[in-house]
Amino acid sequence: LKNNFMSSSFVCQLCGQSFTLNEKIWRCPCGGLLDIENACLFSTERINTTDFSLWRYAHAIPLKLSSPVTFQEGLTPLERNKMMGHELLLKHDYLFPTASFKDRGTSVLITYLKQLGINNIIEDSSGNAGVSLAAYAARLNMKVRIFVPATTSRKKIEMIEHFGADIELIEAGRSQTADYCLAQAERTFYASHVWHPMFLQGTKTIAFEVAEQLNWRLPDRVILPLGNASLLLGWYLGVEELIRAGIVSKHPQIMAVQAANCAPVYNRFHHLPDNVFQPTLAEGIAVQAPRRMEQILEAIRATNGDVLAVTEAEIKKALKTLYLQGYAVEKTSAVVVAALGSLSNNPNLESLIVLSGHALKTL
Ligand SMILES: [Zn+2]
Repeated sequence: LKNNFMSSSFVCQLCGQSFTLNEKIWRCPCGGLLDIENACLFSTERINTTDFSLWRYAHAIPLKLSSPVTFQEGLTPLERNKMMGHELLLKHDYLFPTASFKDRGTSVLITYLKQLGINNIIEDSSGNAGVSLAAYAARLNMKVRIFVPATTSRKKIEMIEHFGADIELIEAGRSQTADYCLAQAERTFYASHVWHPMFLQGTKTIAFEVAEQLNWRLPDRVILPLGNASLLLGWYLGVEELIRAGIVSKHPQIMAVQAANCAPVYNRFHHLPDNVFQPTLAEGIAVQAPRRMEQILEAIRATNGDVLAVTEAEIKKALKTLYLQGYAVEKTSAVVVAALGSLSNNPNLESLIVLSGHALKTL
């Protein structure tokens, strides 16, 4: 498959230096975060309509594709439903091979690492990204070591072990676990879903799918869980590419949802002082210091969006609402439904909520 891999590049957010995608780097030598300047433009005419996975959009992903590392993931259902008085579109991104949306990013990142010949990697995770990476790496017999907070759900830890990855439990929070992993990255390639921008090249496909499922339009607003923002930034990137391709004219408003017990982006967005972080049921987004903070704020502001924070009681209530309608999603996913309580329910406003992780890993 021919795309513009060669003219795509990494660009440092800090110093502006650019690198070819053949470089085995996950951050700039100056320490800055990398983005990808993608020369592979989205086009409805180039969709591979015989491929019923996210790889139908391969032309828009900057890879030298021979064979992607894939379970044929993606094309998750988009369903209309009413919840807490809101007319909603629900994107069922908990229906993936490892039961979270993370598989979008992992399939693309692992394919890219295979292309570079990297076969020994480390990663840190609150659980879902680690499970996902371990599963995809297992297909290639890659050596993987995953660092997770010791409080991570038992089933997520067991899944990582079953897939044959080494696991290290860190007696600290999510951000300290990431710092610990970072220190190990001197020796082993850091396949980070936060640092490595190739991950977002996978998560961006959610926007392509939603647009295609709605016959090439997007809803008015999208309500997303927010931790490290691999979903939010992927969504934003995907919509950017749809705008660039002339398919949609503007961004849906992004409503990002954090748990009030751990809401650093909420605090920054609303100019509030940092508060003491408390444990939360929403373990998947319990991130105290998101690395891509500035980029996250910029994306939300650019869509005229907002950041909401929901209490533990609201998360519990939302989870019950979901269960009583038959949705088996993890507690983290319930934050987007919890947020509906504080949003106006204008019947003319079409809202999309993304259900990001399955209940079976955390029950
Ligand atoms: Zn730099």
